[in-house]
Amino acid sequence: MLNFRLLGTAAGGGIPQWNCACQICALCRQDPQILAPRFQLQAAVWSDHGEWFLLNACPDLRFQIEANPELHPEGRLGNRNTPIQGIILTTADLDQTLGLLLLREFQPLTVYATAIVRRALESNSFFRMLERVPHQLTWVEIQAGVPFNLGHSGIVCTPIPLAGEMPFYARELGPCEPGQASLGLLLESDGQRLAYTPSVPEITEDLRAVYRACDAILVDGTFWSDAELSNTHCGTPLARSIGHIPMSGQGSTMALLSDLDVPHKIFVHLNNTNPVLDPRGEEYRAVIDAGWQIGHDGWQLAL
Ligand SMILES: [Zn+2]
Repeated sequence: MLNFRLLGTAAGGGIPQWNCACQICALCRQDPQILAPRFQLQAAVWSDHGEWFLLNACPDLRFQIEANPELHPEGRLGNRNTPIQGIILTTADLDQTLGLLLLREFQPLTVYATAIVRRALESNSFFRMLERVPHQLTWVEIQAGVPFNLGHSGIVCTPIPLAGEMPFYARELGPCEPGQASLGLLLESDGQRLAYTPSVPEITEDLRAVYRACDAILVDGTFWSDAELSNTHCGTPLARSIGHIPMSGQGSTMALLSDLDVPHKIFVHLNNTNPVLDPRGEEYRAVIDAGWQIGHDGWQLAL
């Protein structure tokens, strides 16, 4: 069986964001019953035998592990252990990798990443803390389109190539071909398929074909509209120019995928400027009416 859980659903900064007084963040602070706080995006999959794999490692990871008892160490296995068998990285972005630094404490870790993402992290001296003793960190290099097994979980993962460049701190390693700096993940078990694509720069025919064969798709819901960020913070870029196709409007995710017959369609990676976060609003209603769901922290699915 393929078990999937969202441990966090917000884009970088979380909700509320520390330096943001936009309507969404203000409402979240004033009335969390209406607009709940959200951790930064983090997902996990696990097998029926309790082998867990993290999809990336966000800066909120310590809180997310404590909030999910299945991720706690078990006393019967000794004082130091974890059910987390590995971490699959889809990018070198800090919002998706800083959590690795929280998993030190001499715990052996297996990290799956593309060659260039590995190079970006290995060239940063902070990450040497994960390699203080022999066999502490095991890298498994992965490639777009090449399936690999998640340990003995029975879950097979195939990286989906996405266009994207290395993050600002590692720009010198680029330019990149699609699938080097940014991946989606296709997860399969017992014939059931789930696509995890929290960062989608464009809907290509290849990506449509992947989605069409899935039972569940988790899709980039960073921005509602192309100009949303620049409307909130003057001088900031358009959604498309930073690799996020907006949810609404012409050429948007909902428009381009409206004919897609997939049982579970979920938006994730919601930026704190996105009006869909207010469940009283017309944008939220439009998403639900179109057959999509807004992912929330703790959302899970068993396929
Ligand atoms: Zn805000």
